[in-house]
Order: sequence, then structure tokens, then C-alpha cells
Amino acid sequence: MATNPVENVSKTPLTLLGLGAMGAALAEAWLAAGHPLTVWNRTAARAEGLAARGAAVAATVAEAVAANRLVVVCLLDDDSVQEALDGVDLTGKDLVNLVTSTPGKARARAAWAERRGARYLDGGIMAVPPMIGVPAAGAYVFYSGSAELFEEHEGVLAAPADTRYVGADAGFAALHDVALLSGMYGMFAGIAHAFALIRGESVAPSELAPLLGGWLAAMSGSVAKTAQQLESGDYALDVVSNLAMQVAGKGTLLGTAEEQGVSAELLLPYFRLMERRLEIGGGEEDLTGVVDLLRR
Ligand code: NDP
Repeated sequence: MATNPVENVSKTPLTLLGLGAMGAALAEAWLAAGHPLTVWNRTAARAEGLAARGAAVAATVAEAVAANRLVVVCLLDDDSVQEALDGVDLTGKDLVNLVTSTPGKARARAAWAERRGARYLDGGIMAVPPMIGVPAAGAYVFYSGSAELFEEHEGVLAAPADTRYVGADAGFAALHDVALLSGMYGMFAGIAHAFALIRGESVAPSELAPLLGGWLAAMSGSVAKTAQQLESGDYALDVVSNLAMQVAGKGTLLGTAEEQGVSAELLLPYFRLMERRLEIGGGEEDLTGVVDLLRR
């Protein structure tokens, strides 16, 4: 009888260190997909439910790491990885580190793992725990580092969320992760300012919400255009609303904030950058020149 490669992949055993909100969701997804799973968590009580569902619970990190070649880490931060794995034998292991980190820390952790005889893959999770193990939720994880490790374990890694390998540089998963998160926080800042403007007026937040959400979705087309302008070097390419016009609108935005009793502290830094670009002759451009001003 022919072997089913998917079934074979689904049986790959692995170890997971860390059963916080994210680690627990990952553990559930691997168990649901039929992977023999060994878990370790600093606070042992958090492993009890998983043990009842078939996970093997290791008493120490060393025992957990020794149990399987593939070891996934989902602890709080890079310091906790250092603390947990300090002195543990990683020879011959495939270490997948899903801790959110900086590119520099990820690169250092990769070198650290390789010095200890392990192959290393870094990961950046683009999801919150309820999205894990739910294929329709759109969750995925950026991976970077050892291509051989990724190719060998891609099937296992894909059980909790889709995978996106972004290169051999171990820092690239973190770089992509934090680039997306940074864009998100800019959007959150705009959302906070918009809701602050209507507070105290007879406009319900739930009335504004679909309008604001729809507007942000429509404006997200600017992401692709910014990329096109950066790659062409022509920041005036296909400009619809030029910088000079947008800076002229500053008075209206700040005036409205003033009238509504709202601090402009989230808007001002961005307008300052737009004005700086205007001062050096970018009036006919899009907003893309701000990218260059941010580079130090
Ligand atoms: P939690 O705070 O829920 O859990 C933290 C985990 O780290 C726990 O297992 C905790 O153990 C363990 N831990 C903390 N410090 C140490 C230490 N010094 N030694 C050993 N273990 C330690 O965090 P999450 O599970 O939510 O996040 C885990 C990683 O996933 C983080 O890097 C986070 O950025 C990333 N992530 C999380 C997302 C989310 O929405 N939650 C989204 C995307 C990424 P104990 O139980 O003993 O406290």
C-alpha cells in the first residue's frame, strides 16, 4: 500500500517549550493534527490539560529537548529563551524559535544555537491565539534561517498556521513581523484619534466604525503604490494627492482637533515629516519621501 506523505508528516514528533497563551494554542493544534507532542512549561500546572489530551509532559527543559529532534520555543522573550536553554545540550537539534524578537537578537540567537550544534529557524507569528489551528482565520508565521530545517519540517510547522519562509538570514522573520506590526500601530494611532474626535458628540462609535474601517481599507491601496515609487525612485509617479496639497490640509486637521478638545500628539509627528519633505522640494511628490527622512 502506498504511504500517504501527509499522514507521515502528521506523525512527526516534536517538543514545545512554553505554554502561555500562544504556546497552549500551538500545542492544541499539534495534538489535534496527530503529532506526538512533548511539552515543558516553567509553571507545570499549565501542562495538565494537555497531558489529559495526550501530550507527554517533561519535568525539565533538558528532558523535553532530549525527547525530540524538532524543538519549538514559544516563551515570553529572548531573555527567557536564554534562561530556559542555558546549558541544555542542543547537539543535533532542530530549534524553531517563535519568540517575537528584533532582527539583531534573532541573528545572535541563530549564531548561539549553531555554536551549540543545532540547526536554527526563527519565526514571527502573525496571529493571535484564537486564530491558531483555524485554517480559515488567515494566520501565518514568517520563518527565516536554515532552509534545510524549514523544508524538512514544513508540514509539521504548517499544522497550527500557514508558513512563509522569507530567507536564510535568521533576522528576516523578525524584520517582516515588526514591519507589519509597525504599520499596524500607525493605523491604531489614526483610529484612536478618529474616535477621540467624535467622543462627546452625538455620533456613536458604532456608527463611525464601519465608515472608518471602510475608509482605511480603501486607503490601504497606498501600500502598493509606495512600494512602486520606492523601487522606481520616482516619488511623483502616479500621484493623486500631492504632498503640497496634503500639507495645506494640516490646518483643517489640527483645527478640528482643537475644536473637539483633542490632543494632536499622534498626528503632529507625521505632519512635521511631511513639512520637512515639502521644505526640500517634494511638493509634487506623494508621501513616499517620508520613508527617506526616517532612515538614520
Ligand atoms: P504569555 O505571557 O501568555 O506566556 C509566556 C510564556 O513564557 C509562559 O509559558 C511563561 O511561563 C514563559 N516564561 C516567561 N518567562 C520565562 C522564563 N524566564 N523562563 C521560562 N519560561 C518563561 O505569552 P504568549 O504565549 O502570548 O507569547 C509567547 C510568545 O509568542 C511571545 O514572544 C509573543 O510575543 C509571541 N506572540 C504572541 C502573540 C499573542 O497574541 N499572544 C501573538 C504573536 C506572537 P509561565 O507559565 O511559567 O509563566
